Amino acid sequence: MNHFEYRNGSLFAEDMRVTALAKEYGTPLYIYSAATIKRHFKAFDSAFDGLDHMTCYSVKANSNLSVLKMLAEQGAGMDIVSGGELYRALKVGVAPEKIVYSGVGKRSSEIRQALEAGILLFNVESVAELLKINEIAKEMDTIAKVSFRVNPDVDPQTHPYISTGMQKNKFGLDIQHSLEAYKMTADLDHVEAVGMDCHIGSQLTSIDPFLEALEKLLDFYKELKGLGIDIQYLDLGGGLGISYDEEEPPHPNEFGRALTYMLKDVPLKVILEPGRVIVGNAGIMVTEVLYTKSNPTKNFLIVDGAMNDLVRPSLYGSYHRIAEVEQNGRNTEEYDVVGPICESSDFLARERELPRVVDGERLVVYSAGAYGFTMSSNYNSRPRACELMVDGDTVSVARKRETYEDLIENEL
Ligand SMILES: *Cc1c(COP(=O)(O)O)cnc(C)c1O
Repeated sequence: MNHFEYRNGSLFAEDMRVTALAKEYGTPLYIYSAATIKRHFKAFDSAFDGLDHMTCYSVKANSNLSVLKMLAEQGAGMDIVSGGELYRALKVGVAPEKIVYSGVGKRSSEIRQALEAGILLFNVESVAELLKINEIAKEMDTIAKVSFRVNPDVDPQTHPYISTGMQKNKFGLDIQHSLEAYKMTADLDHVEAVGMDCHIGSQLTSIDPFLEALEKLLDFYKELKGLGIDIQYLDLGGGLGISYDEEEPPHPNEFGRALTYMLKDVPLKVILEPGRVIVGNAGIMVTEVLYTKSNPTKNFLIVDGAMNDLVRPSLYGSYHRIAEVEQNGRNTEEYDVVGPICESSDFLARERELPRVVDGERLVVYSAGAYGFTMSSNYNSRPRACELMVDGDTVSVARKRETYEDLIENEL
């Protein structure tokens, strides 16, 4: 699936044998499939062909320049959450008028940077931020376009750490405060309210919470219209889930059909901010078994990929499918797959049935393309992994493996 397939018992990434790549580039190793990224983007974007829309890929899911460049070439806009992500988006040639800027804590310097670049709009998450943007736009003698991120108070039925659209979450403004913010904007000279935004969470496996949120937003839109506040953009955020294990998330077409139906008579340009659904299953992480060991209750596979490389299992208890790179046909055993880091939370999988593996064999960790490398760190002074982009039978190094010199480069 997704261009990661076995041929005669050997795992291939498109037309490249993974074992050969691991030998040449070392492990832990991220491998992305260009064909998969392009296919996912096209499938998502075309699901909304019936609507005037713009697909702004969420850069934080995977911000490697090779990935961003490929998506920009497919026509993607970008959803950014920092000045660093703006820098990356501009670097690969994304038109500023296709960039939207989200996030609760934009710094003054980042707001200035975005205004200088001429981005499409800011998704504003508080009145204090609105006033800050107004002040900076005034200094720069310009007018900033804003949407308010409305927190619709719906339960996305996902992991609490990645649910964002409930009252208890730090994100956005509830509808009452949003209303006040729109009214306030009308009295400020350097901000203009052009849209409405929401992003209720990530890894959603049903479209119902999206539709529930959309209904609330549409009611609010009508209320605003009645008050003479007219907007042009409706941003529905990202959050569509993927299959890590047994989940059966809706296909983008189902999502597209439902939104198209609900929005067919609404004269707004729709913005979508998918991240995980584009890149999640377009990447794998390859790791080598360093040691095996057993105690009376457990078998451990100690591998060279750790929580600093892929933190999702440690952070959210996430499931990632794991298998052998070279199928060995042995009987299975129950293992904890753990990394070398000095934390008991350093694991990639717990109590997992895997064919018996010996030292030196390699494992593939699937669905590592989103929130994998972008969440990596140097904890335990481990240089970050290498990232490869495979396109058919060509391989390019999307990011070199870090060296020890890289680790200390900024230290005095
Ligand atoms: C993280 C994020 C997204 C992307 O979420 P996915 O679940 O990866 O699709 C989109 N919009 C905002 C504001 C985000 O914070």
